Amino acid sequence: MSDIIQLLPDHVANQIAAGEVVQRPASVVKELLENAIDADATVIKLIIKDSGKTLVQVIDNGKGMSATDARLSFERHATSKIRSADDLFSLHTKGFRGEALASIAAIAHVELKSKQDSQELGTLIAIEGSEIKAQEVTVTPTGTTIAVKHLFFNIPARRNFLKSNTVELRHIIDEFHRVALAHPKVGFAMYHNGSELFNLHESNYRQRVVHIFGTKTNEKLVPVEETTEVLTISGFVGKPQFAKKTKSEQFFFVNNRFIKSPYLNHAVNAAFDGLIKDGSHPIYFLNLTVDPKSIDINIHPTKTEIKFDDEHTLYAILRSSVKHSLGQFNIAPILDFEYDTNLDTPYNYKDKGAETPTVEVDRDYNPFREERTSGKQVTAFRKQTLNNWDSLYVGLESKGTRDTQDFSQVEFESEPEKATLFGNQPQTETTQSTYQFQNKYIISTIKSGMLMIDQHRAHQRILYEGLLKSMTVKEAVSQQLLFPLQLHFTGAELTILKQLQDDLEATGFVFSTIEEGQVEITGLPINVPESEVSIILEQLISDVEQEVPDSHFSATDLLAKSMAKSLAIKTGQSLSNLEQEHLVNSLFACKEPSVSPTNRATFITMAIDEVDRKFM
Ligand code: ADP
Ligand code: MG
Repeated sequence: MSDIIQLLPDHVANQIAAGEVVQRPASVVKELLENAIDADATVIKLIIKDSGKTLVQVIDNGKGMSATDARLSFERHATSKIRSADDLFSLHTKGFRGEALASIAAIAHVELKSKQDSQELGTLIAIEGSEIKAQEVTVTPTGTTIAVKHLFFNIPARRNFLKSNTVELRHIIDEFHRVALAHPKVGFAMYHNGSELFNLHESNYRQRVVHIFGTKTNEKLVPVEETTEVLTISGFVGKPQFAKKTKSEQFFFVNNRFIKSPYLNHAVNAAFDGLIKDGSHPIYFLNLTVDPKSIDINIHPTKTEIKFDDEHTLYAILRSSVKHSLGQFNIAPILDFEYDTNLDTPYNYKDKGAETPTVEVDRDYNPFREERTSGKQVTAFRKQTLNNWDSLYVGLESKGTRDTQDFSQVEFESEPEKATLFGNQPQTETTQSTYQFQNKYIISTIKSGMLMIDQHRAHQRILYEGLLKSMTVKEAVSQQLLFPLQLHFTGAELTILKQLQDDLEATGFVFSTIEEGQVEITGLPINVPESEVSIILEQLISDVEQEVPDSHFSATDLLAKSMAKSLAIKTGQSLSNLEQEHLVNSLFACKEPSVSPTNRATFITMAIDEVDRKFM
């Protein structure tokens, strides 16, 4: 009988291995970013086209590779990071399998350029489906650039399996966040289809978290610090009241590597026991440092799982240190920098009868009527935004005092210092000057280039977040109508209105009657003009009819979206300088400034080097 077993040719073996390592464009992003970190890069740029389906490129200023190493790096199990099995137990690098580049090169077109500092010229290598297409000497700066194009070009089934661009981009951003959070001392920039999504400068951990998740995150964070013999913990948990419906802001890093651990997650949840509602998830950004000998990260090909020698001890330490931090935070008086004094006016005052008001409220200041405001109100809002920056700055100082700060201290923080700390963030730069283009876009400059904002979408975002906030807090200010407004709705429409009644009231609507044939409104949200009420409600009803919400949560969201759409300034409306400036500032004070409530870009940026290139 003849022998039937054959060794697979390398390119087939590589393709099979690739399936393990590269599931989607985001996997390529992760591997390339980690290689750049392992190469000691201090600045890393990620360039993505079409959610990575067309291009994933990583440019680093790390130590680069010699010509031989560049060629070898694409061989399977070629790694500079471990030499023997023992090294696995003292691992300080991200990679160690030597599989990633070989796998990626098996299923994409890859172009690598690399140069070491000591070299005059660098190396260029082009590979397509494991086949070397070119290897030559090239002019390139010190460091490595890898461009991965046409991922899965030779595995159509894999390519078809990819999700929508939005989903794939979300995965890429997740990977980017993980690496960027694990390495605050490294600068990262990310571009998608030519626009800058992130530009993160070298910073401390708190700044990094805030730069990624938005300025409002700063006030939510409670520091956690613990050092024991077996484990060091540092980082932040979110205050209980900011727990989220999703787990999107939960991060564990072990020895600077992002990991998922249901067990440790349980420990943190246990610390929050009784402080947050069922079904909500605490925010956390926790870095654990352990002896590399006490963990085994080799059990999962994509390396987000980890095995600890002594899980029980880690569990106990983690839980008690989070508990301790929360306890400290509860004892200290709470100062919420974002707190909006207007929300102190309880909407249900009307049922309370007369009594001397105890709360001082600035009735001139209306958080909703932003673009129709007088100069005075604009200043009020600006101050609020700046307080926000102040709070960020304060957070960067000595820890522990944060929650006992009072406002007077906060307001005296000097501005120039903020400017140097955050000089490259659009938020601080956008106050300069703006220009309205075609009554549609607002153009503003930022340090790295130019910002072009879609006024209608931007305003939708601002209103949407404001509305959601007032619906959650359930206390909004309303304007009492002199004459009640009577509107007529069909039975079906009325059913929808009734479903939304609570949320509508939370935004400031007051219904005196809401019955068959007759709806009577006696109060309106402060930013809703009487003349537009019926249009807004009709729009809302038709939006609900078209997109039947499946839960209360999505109904609230729909209401906020619909009202934001109706109320937002329209394309074609001319805005004064003050209004433009205010719009820009309010946009960047939002949680998610970059997209409208319906997920469309609110602004685009044009980097200075793009502009320069056009003049070449
Ligand atoms: P691993 O990271 O597991 O070692 P990879 O396939 O990701 O395996 O990379 C193979 C080798 O190529 C690395 O060990 C490293 O020596 C080299 N390498 C990869 N990317 C870079 C980079 N950006 N800068 C310098 N060297 C790199
Ligand atoms: Mg690697």
